[in-house]
Amino acid sequence: MSMLQNKVEDVIASDRKYLWHHITPYNEKVPPTVAVEAKGAWITDINGNRYLDGMAGLWCVNVGYGREELAEAAYEQLKAMPYFPLTQSHLPAIQLAEKLNEWLEGEYVIFFSNSGSEANEIAFKIARQYHEQNGEPSRYKFISRYRAYHGNSMGALAATGQAVRKYKYEPLAPGFIHVRPPDSYRRPARQSIEEFNIQCAQAIEETIIWEGKETVAAVIMEPAITGGGIIVPHPVYMEKVQEICNKYGVLLIIDEVICGFGRTGKKFGHMHFGVHPDIVTMAKGLTSGYLPLSVTAVRRDIYEVFKASDEYGYLRHVNTFGGNPAACALALKNLEIMEQENLIERARVLGERLQEEMKEMENHPLVGDIRGFGFLLGIELVEDKKTKEPAAPAKVGQIIADCKANGLIVGRNGDTVAGFNNVIVLSPPLSVTDEDVAFIV
Ligand code: PLP
Repeated sequence: MSMLQNKVEDVIASDRKYLWHHITPYNEKVPPTVAVEAKGAWITDINGNRYLDGMAGLWCVNVGYGREELAEAAYEQLKAMPYFPLTQSHLPAIQLAEKLNEWLEGEYVIFFSNSGSEANEIAFKIARQYHEQNGEPSRYKFISRYRAYHGNSMGALAATGQAVRKYKYEPLAPGFIHVRPPDSYRRPARQSIEEFNIQCAQAIEETIIWEGKETVAAVIMEPAITGGGIIVPHPVYMEKVQEICNKYGVLLIIDEVICGFGRTGKKFGHMHFGVHPDIVTMAKGLTSGYLPLSVTAVRRDIYEVFKASDEYGYLRHVNTFGGNPAACALALKNLEIMEQENLIERARVLGERLQEEMKEMENHPLVGDIRGFGFLLGIELVEDKKTKEPAAPAKVGQIIADCKANGLIVGRNGDTVAGFNNVIVLSPPLSVTDEDVAFIV
């Protein structure tokens, strides 16, 4: 008899006994939601309760649940040729790499792996080796922002700027330096958003100079900080970041793990800002979470340095499962669905509508700020709108529990160690219906 046929209590007991939940404190009083079915934006749990998944899983189920075409694409590929390593090649990987070039609107070479963390680790290795082979071996440092999350492995976690996720595991990888994020809501009084964003970008330049400009390999950032509470920069910030990277020969790594694949209302988040990344990392929405797959896309001229160097110049990175044929075939179908159903434009238009309708809540005493773009929305809760003191954790928790009791799953972001965990997040599937949007509101 399968586990799901057992009584619900037995399933919960087995869960408690055998399963270690990701980044969730053990709570005897609150049983886990055991999902058993999902369709569109809705999941059904083992008790028969239905929830609109306002987080698209972990910001990833972009085309929504229950897409049989995706299952079929993977099934057909598994039957035809389930595995072959990318030390050589296979057709789904080639086709997907070509398709991603089209989406990136640039000249990129694609390295496949399995998760966003790995994609970022690979970006760091490529950046260091590139500089080493390009005659600048002293460039080993990376600059990232406080509040950003870039993954769970030692390098990606070192790039992360949230103490709560890191401090139990430190020391992590050396050479990662953090700067202030352009959190315009919390800018100093009397400073305009534009001035503040310029100042935040200048902090990167100052850091490069203080650290020694010949020591910095790359800057890594998301187009908008997501897991740190939806911090969308003013366009001038990204413009300056690009200028600074160009000026000092520092590579610009853009982490599109969440912002990619239509989440922000464009194919990739950086396309809002006209920047030209040297390396782009992707995961999540690439397969809409149906199978693990991630990408480190590297500008062709960086790849050329590897290609042109001697027999020791190749990238020493192998990944057994990275670019699995079924995952690649599924990803291709996933991108096709997004194109055919115009989901990116839909995310832009419906995201704007959602944000517009949410604006009414700005009058609520707890709501300090509502921000975001596309289907990436943050609601910052405060105790006091003037002082911007973050809302008490219990209040935020209660609101999230109330949403769930009313059939809506929302996210929560921040950094408990830094004293705030007060941003409620909405990042639903891009395929939500008009009725779903009305339900969220
Ligand atoms: N980068 C960003 C911006 C993320 O949000 C995440 C995960 O949430 C990662 C990287 C790491 O991705 P993964 O969990 O697939 O390793």
